[in-house]
Amino acid sequence: MKHQPPPPPLPLSQPPSMGGAAAGGVASVISSMNGGSNSSVSGIEAVKCRPPIYPKPKTPSFDKDRDYIGFATLPEQVHRKSVKRGFEFTLMVVGESGLGKSTLINSLFLGDLYKNRQMPNVEERIEKTTKVEKKTMDIEERGVRLRLTVVDTPGFGDAINCEDSWRVCTQYIDEQFRQYFTDESGLNRRNIQDNRVHCCLYFVPPWGHSLRQMDLDLIRRLHRKVNIVLVIGKADCLNKQEVRKLKERILQDLEDNHIQLYQFPECDSDEDDDFKQQDRELKASIPFAVVGSNTILEVAGKKVRGRQYPWGVVNVEDPEHSDFIKLRTFLISTHMQDLKDTTQDVHYENFRAQCISQISQHALRERGKLKRDSISSTNGFDAAISETDRLLLQKDEEIRRMQDMLTQMQEKLKQTHLMEMKKNDSVIDV
Ligand code: GDP
Repeated sequence: MKHQPPPPPLPLSQPPSMGGAAAGGVASVISSMNGGSNSSVSGIEAVKCRPPIYPKPKTPSFDKDRDYIGFATLPEQVHRKSVKRGFEFTLMVVGESGLGKSTLINSLFLGDLYKNRQMPNVEERIEKTTKVEKKTMDIEERGVRLRLTVVDTPGFGDAINCEDSWRVCTQYIDEQFRQYFTDESGLNRRNIQDNRVHCCLYFVPPWGHSLRQMDLDLIRRLHRKVNIVLVIGKADCLNKQEVRKLKERILQDLEDNHIQLYQFPECDSDEDDDFKQQDRELKASIPFAVVGSNTILEVAGKKVRGRQYPWGVVNVEDPEHSDFIKLRTFLISTHMQDLKDTTQDVHYENFRAQCISQISQHALRERGKLKRDSISSTNGFDAAISETDRLLLQKDEEIRRMQDMLTQMQEKLKQTHLMEMKKNDSVIDV
């Protein structure tokens, strides 16, 4: 049978571009779980929510297209289902206070996740331990809903001893895996909420020469649990050459310490040249040197997100000034799904394998214990039985002896009685 190739499915949305305020793709913030309703960063107009656009699968015309089976619409069906269900993404931001983490997150997602934040004073910071703060917002763009959770770790690295900071981060990641594992093994698996951390943005300060010992220590503890993406914060403190050198030294440090951060997947050979070029540029920019800002400035009649200095404006979205747009493209437009897949297929699988091996080891230990218990209880039973038997035998012996005695006594009585009778007879005879 000859199959006519069906028409290719219509693209839902424009392919992501690397420029423009909404290039990262987040059009509107629907609500914030922290009490915020519709929120948008001052100066940036949130694009109005449009009703969801789901591509309708082409109804096959049975009469005309006799050779058309219809499974070419499968990608569209999957697409419609995923769009209806919505997406979840959890991002963890780790780094010392003041490195520009919250500013960057607000800039990335055009939201204001940190409006109620209270800055601790010096005394509080000395005593402070690392906390985990979770903020969630629902964002919608072209009918696609994304529930974004940002996990912040205020107080990270503020204490002299960083053990606490590391423990808090690793514990949080493990807890989410454990919760998912429990939910997955439960009865209601259809409505599992995925709170696993899909990506960890680790902020490196721009004022060091490379990674510090505490950075290496934390990254070493985390890199097998989560996709780590390194970010040099406040990159406007460095010139181009310094940024390049810092990046080189960081990459060298990682290699020397055998640390493998998130690995970008290989670009498919059938991708178009623009996409391949974009992929190359993204890979070459790691670690991303970023500048964040929540201020909208006017430069040459154009509104831009930037930082005003006496000598000029740093345009956050200008690729010549920072890797902000590249980071946003990577995180939101091109690699979000791959980050989720890697979390599921690599990090969660590792955790699951560990859990299953622990459970089976525990079960084996329990079985061994039960076996030992049953053996000892059987031995005890045997001992009890032999003791009873011994007692029974003793009693039997006793009874037998008593019976013998009785028989002897009866015999004696009989003898005595006979003798008496004989005696009486002889007296009568006389
Ligand atoms: P966080 O504690 O890491 O969340 O840092 P914040 O986002 O609160 O930023 C701390 C301070 O640094 C604020 O005054 C920000 O305006 C400023 N800031 C944020 N991002 C940048 C940046 O990229 N460059 C510079 N120079 N300052 C920044």
